[in-house]
Amino acid sequence: MNDMSEEDAFEAYEQRPLSQQAMGVSPYLSDLNPPQREAVETLDGPVLLLAGAGTGKTKALTTRLAHLIHTRRAWPSQILAVTFTNKAAREMKNRVGGLIGGAVEGMPWLGTFHSVCVKILRRHAELVELKSSFTILDTDDQIRLIKQIIDVEGIDPKRWPPRMFASMLDRWKNRAVSPGKVPPDECGFANGRGGELYRIYHERLRTLNAVDFGDLLLHVVTILQTHPDVLADYQQRFKYVLVDEYQDTNVAQYLLLRLLAAEHRNICCVGDDDQSIYGWRGAEVENILRFEKDFPDATVIRLERNYRSTPAILAAASGLIAENKSRLGKTLWTEEPDGDPVQIRGVWDADEEARQIGDDIEAAQAKGVKLSDMAVLVRASFQMRAFEERFIHLGLPYRVIGGPRFFEREEIRDAHAYLRLVKSQDDDLSFERICNKPRRGLGDKALQTLHLTARGQSISLMRAARLMLETDELRPQARKSLRGFVEAVDRWTLAAADIPHTELAEMILDESGYTEMWKNDKSPQAGSKLDNLKELVQAMGEFENLAGYLDHVSLVMELDQDSSGDRVSLMTLHAAKGLEFPLVFLPGWEEGIFPSQRSVDEKGQEGLEEERRLAYVGLTRAMESARIFFAANRQVYGRWQNAIPSRFIDELPKQHIDIVSEPGLYGAPASNMPGLSRFDATRVEEDTYYDNPGWRRARAAKARKSAPPPLLEGKAELMTTSAPDASAYAVGERIFHQKFGYGRISAIEGNKLAVDFEKAGAKRVLESFVEKT
Ligand code: ATP
Ligand code: MG
Repeated sequence: MNDMSEEDAFEAYEQRPLSQQAMGVSPYLSDLNPPQREAVETLDGPVLLLAGAGTGKTKALTTRLAHLIHTRRAWPSQILAVTFTNKAAREMKNRVGGLIGGAVEGMPWLGTFHSVCVKILRRHAELVELKSSFTILDTDDQIRLIKQIIDVEGIDPKRWPPRMFASMLDRWKNRAVSPGKVPPDECGFANGRGGELYRIYHERLRTLNAVDFGDLLLHVVTILQTHPDVLADYQQRFKYVLVDEYQDTNVAQYLLLRLLAAEHRNICCVGDDDQSIYGWRGAEVENILRFEKDFPDATVIRLERNYRSTPAILAAASGLIAENKSRLGKTLWTEEPDGDPVQIRGVWDADEEARQIGDDIEAAQAKGVKLSDMAVLVRASFQMRAFEERFIHLGLPYRVIGGPRFFEREEIRDAHAYLRLVKSQDDDLSFERICNKPRRGLGDKALQTLHLTARGQSISLMRAARLMLETDELRPQARKSLRGFVEAVDRWTLAAADIPHTELAEMILDESGYTEMWKNDKSPQAGSKLDNLKELVQAMGEFENLAGYLDHVSLVMELDQDSSGDRVSLMTLHAAKGLEFPLVFLPGWEEGIFPSQRSVDEKGQEGLEEERRLAYVGLTRAMESARIFFAANRQVYGRWQNAIPSRFIDELPKQHIDIVSEPGLYGAPASNMPGLSRFDATRVEEDTYYDNPGWRRARAAKARKSAPPPLLEGKAELMTTSAPDASAYAVGERIFHQKFGYGRISAIEGNKLAVDFEKAGAKRVLESFVEKT
C-alpha cells in the first residue's frame, strides 16, 4: 500500500466504506519525514520527541492524534492532549479534522492543563471538600482574601505585602507543594509564618468554595494521589496522552502527566529545551530529563530538518543559541532555498523604530504580502505602545495576540482613571475604578453608602463623597480614608493648572501609592506593569496637554475594536511560541531591554540564558525574513539614555547578518547619502555607530577579522583607527558612574564594563560613562 502514489492513496481513502477506514491507507502519513512518521506510528509505550524549532513537532503531534482516531486505536474521548493555549487546542482540533477528513466528534480532553483540570476537579470536587460549583478566584479576589487574612493575623501588610505572599503561593503550587508540606526554609514570610498562613488561606478558600489558578492543578494531583479508585478510572480512560511544548511544564503538571499515564504508558511529549522560556513562572526544563528517567524505555526521537526558515535565519538562530551553556545541543538543517541574511538595523529612537517598521510593513503589503504574514515581536509589553500608535496613524489593521492592547491594560486604565478624575471630578466610572486602588480602606460598604447618596440626590460620587465627609454615616476609619482621597484629588486638580501634564501624572502615580502598590508586588507581572506606567508618562509627553492626551486615548480605544480580517500581529516573544510568520520584526534589541535587565539582575547567568532562548524563539518564528532593530537612544521618564546594542546582536554569526541603514539603501555606504537631518538614516547610522563605543568596537573587531559587509566598507577603517584597542580600565578597579555611583569592575568586554555597583548591584555600562576614582 505504501507504494501507492499520494493521489491514488487519497482517492482510495475517499472512496472506501466507513467500516474499512481503520484498515485503509493514511494519506496524511505521506506528508511526514521518517522520524516524524516514527513519532506518529510508535503507538505503544512512551515517546519523547525532542527537536529544534520548526522541525514539525506540533505537526507530528497533531498527526499522531489524527492517526490514533483514524486507526481506531482510541476514541477521541480516550485521548488526553495538552496544548499551551486554548487557541492552539482549537487549531489542533481543526487540523485533525482536516487530516482525517471531516469534523472530529468531541475531543473533550484536548486543551490546556488548566482547562483539563477544571473539568476533572468539577467532577470530584467533594474529594477535596469543595462543591462542584466552586468559583475560580482571579488575582484581585485572591489578593483581597490574603489581605483579610493578614489583617486578622495582625501582620503588617506594609512589611509583608499580600502580593508577595500571593507569588509565594504560586511558586509552591507550581511545585505541587500542598499546605502542611512547605519546607521550613521557605516559611520566612511574616517572620516564619509562611506555612501557617498557607494553611489558613487554604481553609478560607474551602469555606468560600473557591480555588485559585494554582489550585486547579494542585487539587487534581492531590485527588489522584489520595484516591486510587479515581486515579485508576482516569488511567483506564486515557489510553493516550499527548503533550506539546513539553519543555515549559512545571513540576505539578509533570506529576499530573506521570500519574495519568502510569497505566497505559502511552505518553508522547514533544518539546525543545532551547525554547524553555517560562522558568520565571515555574517551568522546569529538567522535566525532559525526568521523563527519560521515569520512562527509561521511552523511544526518543529527534528531528533535525527544519521546514520553516531559510538557511540564514536558521544559522543565525543556531549560532546564537550555541552561546548557552546549559542545553542538550542539537543540529538543524534545512532544504529551504537560500534567503536574505538576518537584517540588523540601528535607528535613532523608539519612534524611528516604529516608523521604519511601519514603512517596511506597508512596503511589503504593496508587494502583495498579506498583513497576517507579518509580526512584530517585542520583549516587553511597554514596547507595544509605539507600534500601536504608529499602526493607528498609518491605518494599518493590527491585532495584539496573547494579551490586551497597550491602552487596555489594567495599569494603564487605572492611571487613566486617576487622570480623568482630575480632569473631571464627576467622572463616576473613574472614581469607582480607583477610589480603593491601591486599597485605602474604602470597602464595599463605604462605596455602597456613597452610591446611595449619589443616586438619592442625583449627584456624582465625588460630590456624594464630599457630603459624606460632613456626616457620620461612614465609619470613622472609612471617613478618614475618604477625606485623604478627596483632598488628594483636589490637590492634583489644583496642580494640574500649574505643572506640565507629564509631571502631574508622575505626581499622581506617586502620591496615590499606585506605583508603590506595584513595586511591592512580587509577582512576575509587576515589573512589566511598572514599565508600562513609565511608557504611559512618556506617551503623554507627545501631547500638548492632558485633555489632548485623553482625547487621543479615547479615539485609539474606539478604533479597531473588530479584530477580524487581515491584520499585522503584535505580541510579546513569550506569546509567539509555536507560531510562524514569513516576515518577522524584532525591535528593541538593546541591553537592559533584551536581555531584560530585570531577568539578569534576578537570576544571573540562568536568567541570561532564558533571555537568549527567548531570542532564539523570536528568530525562529521567521520563515523568510527576520529584521532586528535597536535604537541608539531610549527615553525613560522623559530622560534620554544612551542604549547599547544587545549582546545577542554581537553573538549572531556575522556571515548570516547584514547591517542595513534604511530600506532601499541596502548595501550602500551611509556616508554617500547627502544632507540628511538629525533624525534621518545617515545620522542615525552615525549616531548609532560612532556615538556608541561598544558597538563601534564590536564592529571594528569584526572588520579586522573578516571582510566587512558591504555597508561598512566605507567605515571599517575609520572605526578601526578610531577604536582604541586596550581598555583604559582593569578588572578589579574601582570606578564611579554618574547614575549608579561607585562600583568595582568585574569584567571587561570591549568598551562595555561589567561592574558590581555598591548600591545598584551588577550592571553592564559603557566605559565612556565611568570615571576613575
Ligand atoms: P516550534 O518549535 O516552533 O513549535 P515545531 O517543531 O512544532 O516548531 P511545526 O510548527 O510543527 O514545527 O512545523 C513548522 C512548519 O514546518 C509548519 O509550517 C509545518 O507545516 C511545516 N512542516 C513540518 N513538517 C513538515 C514536513 N514533513 N513536510 C513539509 N512541511 C512540514
Ligand atoms: Mg510547535
